Amino acid sequence: MTRKERYQQVLAYFQEHNPTAETELIYDSPYQLLVAVVLSAQCTDKRVNMTTPAIFAKYPDVQTLATATFDELFPLIRSISYPNNKTKHLIGMAHMLVNDFGGEIPMTVEELVKLPGVGRKTANVITSVIDEQPNMAVDTHVFRVAARLGLTRNATTPLAAEKQLVQYIPKEQIHIAHHWLILHGRYICLARSPKCGECGLRAICPYYKKKIKPLEKSGS
Ligand code: SF4
Repeated sequence: MTRKERYQQVLAYFQEHNPTAETELIYDSPYQLLVAVVLSAQCTDKRVNMTTPAIFAKYPDVQTLATATFDELFPLIRSISYPNNKTKHLIGMAHMLVNDFGGEIPMTVEELVKLPGVGRKTANVITSVIDEQPNMAVDTHVFRVAARLGLTRNATTPLAAEKQLVQYIPKEQIHIAHHWLILHGRYICLARSPKCGECGLRAICPYYKKKIKPLEKSGS
């Protein structure tokens, strides 16, 4: 199977089985998504969704968040991983948005990565989810699933994986392919014990063929 055919089969599978995949973060505006994505680093979406309602109630927009002090915001973030850094990042981010971007969320990766706490992955999420730009955010799930399925080859960094994925995935599907790969990694292709028995991509998965099937045969 050529690499192009592999991509076609994987994308067709997800298109058929999950045609409306979307982020599991709950948000109502670009501002809310940005806050949620910053909070989601090293943390589950579920935990973030439990935390954000209180933050958005107290700070409904960038302008109000820019008035927050560390001591006011920190208690609302305490239950999330790295609360110190994330509190500082959110306040710094709000200041920069008000001072340099007129209180609006910029919609280019180049501008977004200037914000405290916002790296390339977060910027790719924001621009692809809000604006359907063809930007692929590579997190740990995307990185792992893409490698196991043979979509990426010898990619040692998220950026290398991102470059390979955007090269082969049709532009108009990149924003949804990000969710397909994340959700597959979150619920089926788990890091330690992938649920290959439940996976509809098993027949074309090189990882299954090389690593899992031999174990099944040997009965271990
Ligand atoms: S067959 Fe297994 S390893 Fe391959 S994508 Fe499916 S769950 Fe992941």
